[in-house]
Amino acid sequence: MVPISPVEARLLLDIVDGLPEMERSTIKERFKAAIERMEEAGLMSQLRQQIKPVGPEYKELGLRYFEQEVPCPFLENESCSIHPQRPLVCREYLVVSDPENCKRKNGKPIEAIKMPSEASKALTSIDGPTEFTNWVPLILALEWAEQNPETETPRPGTDIAARFFETLTAR
Ligand code: SF4
Repeated sequence: MVPISPVEARLLLDIVDGLPEMERSTIKERFKAAIERMEEAGLMSQLRQQIKPVGPEYKELGLRYFEQEVPCPFLENESCSIHPQRPLVCREYLVVSDPENCKRKNGKPIEAIKMPSEASKALTSIDGPTEFTNWVPLILALEWAEQNPETETPRPGTDIAARFFETLTAR
């Protein structure tokens, strides 16, 4: 599902809006098609929840999402077209098993390196107190960012960084 933070959703909207017209239309069409597919599968009400589901509910949602076989809208010729700007959760997903296993059809496990801490989750904490969305599934990034423009009063970068590291280290 590629769960990203609100700040990354706004960044992805900026990236897409900055693309040349043809690329932008192609990417936006992919986002639209992905949302329509999830609507058909009956997953949108869960995907639009402002608080990320946890435990078995999250796992079940992830599996049902995966079964739809909807590629990330940024995937281009099997590569990430926004690689230098990809979300943190993508950077943390370090798979070391055979890529064939990712199809889940051969029944073999996907092995990934476990992160000692998850910066992607800490990033969800840096928005101000008026925000209470703690995840945005990537296919909803553009829609969410358009509906939720930044309204917070600007804060010093040091405060934002301190909040991020407090959450990351639990100190
Ligand atoms: S690495 Fe790129 S293509 Fe893959 S899920 Fe993340 S943004 Fe999408």
